[in-house]
Amino acid sequence: MVIAMNCLICVGTAQRIQCLGPWEERDCPECGRYRVSDELIMMLMEQGQIFDVNKTRRWLSSQRVAGAVPSIEVHEALLLP
Ligand SMILES: [Zn+2]
Repeated sequence: MVIAMNCLICVGTAQRIQCLGPWEERDCPECGRYRVSDELIMMLMEQGQIFDVNKTRRWLSSQRVAGAVPSIEVHEALLLP
């Protein structure tokens, strides 16, 4: 099941991929497919933080060489200072 949602990185329109586990998965035409841990989403909402879009996209593409869907965890952060 696919639902239109906002991208968690660039806030553009992205597809939400149904997935099991403590994370949200999105497929964004600009950022590609990725997962963000629920823990990090909570942190972003609580602190009103946003991702550094360029840094995060670079990190995602570097992770994709391994073939798996990259998952952004709290320790990766990649937030704007
Ligand atoms: Zn995006």
